[in-house]
Amino acid sequence: MRVNAYAAPAAGQPLAPTTIERREVGPNDVLIAIEYAGICHSDIHTVNGDWGPQPFPVVPGHEIVGTVTEVGADVTTHRVGDRVGVGCMVNSCGQCPPCRGGDEQFCVNGTVFTYASEDRDGTHTQGGYSTHVVVDADFVLSVPENLDAAAAAPLLCAGITTYNPLRRWGAGPGKKVAVVGLGGLGHMAVKIAHAMGTEVTVLSQSLKKQEDGLRLGADHYYATSDPDTFSELAGRFDLIINTVSADIDVNAYLGLLTLDGAMVSVGAAPGPLAVNGFLLGARRILTGSMIGGIALTQEMLDFCGEHNIGADVEIISADQVNEAYERVLASDVRYRFVIDASTLA
Ligand SMILES: [Zn+2]
Ligand SMILES: [Zn+2]
Repeated sequence: MRVNAYAAPAAGQPLAPTTIERREVGPNDVLIAIEYAGICHSDIHTVNGDWGPQPFPVVPGHEIVGTVTEVGADVTTHRVGDRVGVGCMVNSCGQCPPCRGGDEQFCVNGTVFTYASEDRDGTHTQGGYSTHVVVDADFVLSVPENLDAAAAAPLLCAGITTYNPLRRWGAGPGKKVAVVGLGGLGHMAVKIAHAMGTEVTVLSQSLKKQEDGLRLGADHYYATSDPDTFSELAGRFDLIINTVSADIDVNAYLGLLTLDGAMVSVGAAPGPLAVNGFLLGARRILTGSMIGGIALTQEMLDFCGEHNIGADVEIISADQVNEAYERVLASDVRYRFVIDASTLA
């Protein structure tokens, strides 16, 4: 079927309306009428060509919420009318050790990502800035009905990206977690860590968003531009979630960890890191994390449903997407843009 979409025609070019072909619904496929698609920083990196050549035209969007309008003959997990979501991936081999272990995002035979990725049939995937998408049922998530559909969309990437390291590194009562950066990812980390019962501290460049941070669930808020912050908080945290993709002084942050504390970067730092071996020698862990597998994504959505957690969103029409990109790059959004897909119809 031919559907309306917004696509980047070439690297660095503004997105423009177009139509794209969605495949016929196969036996294990689900056809989704998209309601909302979040704008993730990765969308901007991809269409700007920051991450290498792309199969243009590219329709970005991997924070998708919509309603099932058709299912294939073999689909048992989703029904017409269900509210569902699609995140960063739409296929993987299902056989390799990471896939069998629930880490489909690390499929050794190549995860198929939601857009700009080569699918198993040789076509290129197109994302959620569109009216409809056809996705293998195994990669379609159930979105709790009590959540606002627009606020739920960013959970599919920003939510799972932060939920994964919080779960893996044991955030919960009695633990102290620091969140570096209060943007799209950071604000989700604060909400989720708070709901897990953890003591949450935001480490932000300035105190500009302090009021917001405390409203979102942070217990403490510090400015990293103030050198006293690092002496005052030395050895304080069990876990630091670094959501800042720019270069930061990683050693200064490592010094804030307890014995066996972990610092997890969920953004991609541009340059190589110079890490102080003495800091690591004192049994601190420096690691990374990338989105999360399908089962964990469903767990995250159920958790957010239970705790009524969605993103703070600004809803836009599709023709505002280029302007929204500018504002994301200027950190001028609290905290996620979501495209109303009905404006594409
Ligand atoms: Zn994303
Ligand atoms: Zn695999």
